[in-house]
Amino acid sequence: MLTVLADDVQLRAASLVARYDQPGPRYTSYPPVPRWSKAFGDADFLEALDATGPTDPFALYVHLPFCAARCFYCGCNAVVTARDEIVHRYLDRLDAQVQRIVERLGPGRRVTQLHWGGGTPNFLGIRAMDRTWRMLARHFDIAPDAELSVECDPRLTSSEQLHHLRRLGFSRVSFGVQDLDPDVQREIGRVQPAEMVREVIDWSRDAGFEGVNVDLVYGLPGQTVETLERTMDRVLEELHPDRVACFGYAHVPWAHPHQRQIDESHLPDGDARFGLFSRVVRRFTGAGYQWIGFDHFALPDDALAVAQREGRLHRNFMGYTTMPGDHLLGFGMSSISDVANRYAQADGSLTGWSKAMDAGQLGIVKGLSLTADEVRRRRAIMRLLCDLRIAKDDLPGDPTLAWRRLVPLAHDGLVELTGAEATVTPLGRYFLRNVCMAIDTALETGTARYSRTI
Ligand code: SF4
Repeated sequence: MLTVLADDVQLRAASLVARYDQPGPRYTSYPPVPRWSKAFGDADFLEALDATGPTDPFALYVHLPFCAARCFYCGCNAVVTARDEIVHRYLDRLDAQVQRIVERLGPGRRVTQLHWGGGTPNFLGIRAMDRTWRMLARHFDIAPDAELSVECDPRLTSSEQLHHLRRLGFSRVSFGVQDLDPDVQREIGRVQPAEMVREVIDWSRDAGFEGVNVDLVYGLPGQTVETLERTMDRVLEELHPDRVACFGYAHVPWAHPHQRQIDESHLPDGDARFGLFSRVVRRFTGAGYQWIGFDHFALPDDALAVAQREGRLHRNFMGYTTMPGDHLLGFGMSSISDVANRYAQADGSLTGWSKAMDAGQLGIVKGLSLTADEVRRRRAIMRLLCDLRIAKDDLPGDPTLAWRRLVPLAHDGLVELTGAEATVTPLGRYFLRNVCMAIDTALETGTARYSRTI
């Protein structure tokens, strides 16, 4: 598959940035979160749990929100604390939430995927990790071949911690690297020397992790093509990750006021962001990684790359995945569940979520029951995000109308329209969210504050 753009196409792409760099959904769900309803609550979520089949597999997401300090660029739902009792009280409530959901679902439901995200899951000490593991393993039947993954902050990682996670069964670890340039690290309030990152990655391999992922971010303050190239040199030569996720920094200080600590005059503009990301694509595909979706890269023998080649790739709130868990259950504050065609999100504030847990509730503050039409649209958009092609008959809504909306993108070289199928071109990979927006005929304009697509 051709993934690196020739120089003339690169130039053409740059000229399209001004037109296509606009706010848009990341499509980790369909419909996206801003379209969900605050009228959706605990009772609706319980109905969703009742609608699951007795042998349906589940994916579990556990939100562990604690961090030692707030990075300036952070877009996560995080809680900064140094107090152990806050963590332990959170775990008490998490335990209560798990029990409440299992009472409704019945014990021993099959789990094929488990992810601990945050925040910083490895802010938890070994005893707290054990406790979190036991509260899940006690109630769920975690399949022997389930994919168990965890996010770790290199600054807090110890070899002992990694060995312990491996003993619990975690086989994939993701490290937030973001950028290895010391000046960029200072600008984003997250200083972690490259030598430290290399050491924790070596420890992960010594501990027997089968997959080591590295998360990078483009569009950071002070980042230039030169600094990013140096970061990628070190990632490729010293870290050798199995997968790389490279996200665009979303500067939304109205939603995350701590981002005001970032000097906006040092942020790359749309053209520069595109230039940075196209370097990322060049370097990783040039080094033999397979480009997955729009922001992931995986070695060819990695399960994600194999799944994409075989048309088995999926996308959910945890990003691209190989595991088709029928339902996703989220635990903890701000977590999202996707069960029986209903989305449900828990309260994002620690106070609000804790109060709901103490009152014996589930803390659901928004969600959506998908209509049959939305289920069809979701399938179409997710297949396009994973397979990069879609049959005309599978286009959502009125297929003729959706097809017509793709014609301008075909003129710009982003898709190829044959008689029966729309295929995303190598150039269109950079604008994949825009291609999805074109067929998302229900997308509202101007109301929701999405991040930029480039
Ligand atoms: S470690 Fe991650 S979650 Fe915590 S503040 Fe930094 S970016 Fe946010």
